[in-house]
Amino acid sequence: MDFYILYVCASENDRLQQLDFIILGGGASGLQLANRLSKSDAYKASSILILESDQHKANDRTWCFWETGEGEWDDLLQNQWSKVQFKSQSIDKTIDLGDTSYKMLRSKPYYDLLHKNIAQNKSVQIKYERCTGFSDKGSHVIVNTEQNTYQCSTLFNSIFDWNILRQMQQYPVLQQHFLGWYIKTPTPVFDVQKAVFMDFTVPQKQETRFMYVLPFTKTDALIEYTLFSEKLLDKSEYESAIRDYLKEKNINDYELVEVEQGSIPMCSYPFWKHNTKNVHFIGSAGGWTKASTGFTFKNINRKTIALVNHISANKPLSRFAKKNRFWWYDLLFLDVLSKHNHMGAQLFSGMFGKNSPKRIFRFLDEQSHFFQEILIMRSFPTLLFVKQFFKRLFGTHH
Ligand SMILES: Cc1cc2nc3c(=O)[nH]c(=O)nc-3n(C[C@H](O)[C@H](O)[C@H](O)COP(=O)(O)OP(=O)(O)OC[C@H]3O[C@@H](n4cnc5c(N)ncnc54)[C@H](O)[C@@H]3O)c2cc1C
Repeated sequence: MDFYILYVCASENDRLQQLDFIILGGGASGLQLANRLSKSDAYKASSILILESDQHKANDRTWCFWETGEGEWDDLLQNQWSKVQFKSQSIDKTIDLGDTSYKMLRSKPYYDLLHKNIAQNKSVQIKYERCTGFSDKGSHVIVNTEQNTYQCSTLFNSIFDWNILRQMQQYPVLQQHFLGWYIKTPTPVFDVQKAVFMDFTVPQKQETRFMYVLPFTKTDALIEYTLFSEKLLDKSEYESAIRDYLKEKNINDYELVEVEQGSIPMCSYPFWKHNTKNVHFIGSAGGWTKASTGFTFKNINRKTIALVNHISANKPLSRFAKKNRFWWYDLLFLDVLSKHNHMGAQLFSGMFGKNSPKRIFRFLDEQSHFFQEILIMRSFPTLLFVKQFFKRLFGTHH
């Protein structure tokens, strides 16, 4: 998005409809935040406008996350698994998740449900207009779209801008990029009991590359070729990797039903520094994507709840986003992974080989205790991380 300074004269200003909240982007975080605001005691009567550029959003994402027990999105789940497999040249481990499940939902039912919920509250509206810029005037925010100009007290922005990452050098930028095939086979070939979380046995080509397999039935699965690396591949390279993988598993007869492709930012850049008094960045644009893994969906759940509670308690928006020790862990991990991208399989094998799933998930959920974090860190090559830590400490990182 190109930002520019808006000049709005007083008379025009008077004509603009004053809204309490504008949310830029009606995707995962924007819709969830609008829904929670419109259901909260403090804001159920507030006027909320969602500005979304894409009127035809459907199954553009498959969201997975782990969760213990029942959860808010259970009615929408397409599947869940109680076991996940981690595989590399050094280990092959099928992990029983116990009371935790690896859950999966597709985005269309999620968008549909939230649109339906939002439509029940007359003070929330969605307009399909592309936002072109906004400006915090101190007492209010002016938002421009290709068609209109709006004014609000508080703006939440979920529009991700890759240019922010391209223009800085302080933090390494990797992408979790992937292409996935939904396939159907004529005979049963998949083990529906377990999801293949990471299979690093595919050629690494000096990078961090793995297969991710989500079986829904014995004949239906999503096979996703995933990389944690700097540059995207040609489409044909993802495709031939999937083809080779299926061939190696003796799956030669299949129908390609659907394709999913995406790229998720992996960077410790402090996105929240773009927040102003009345403008707050949310979702991936607000740094809610876990930098070391790309997982975002669960953070969106947690943070939208926490954000509504925070403002309901009249706390200033500027105090919401905070750096914690996990930010440092992610930063060091990405420093190492970007410099030694060929070591991804080794790093993840160390973590999955030497730690219980409970400990790993608590760590990735940023809910672990310091002692558990020490144990996780001991499963990585210590010297490499210590070296990186001192580079960051003394500002000699390049
Ligand atoms: C294919 C894919 C699969 C993923 N799978 C997982 C997963 O399994 N687990 C997980 O935790 N995370 C996953 N993620 C990461 C993350 O959960 C999603 O990217 C999630 O959608 C992020 O939510 P968001 O609200 O930040 O952004 P989005 O959901 O992308 O919402 C931003 C919205 O802004 C709109 N927009 C953009 N520009 C404009 C503009 N100028 N004006 C108006 N509107 C605009 C877009 O159309 C979009 O609807 C995945 C991401 C992708 C791309």
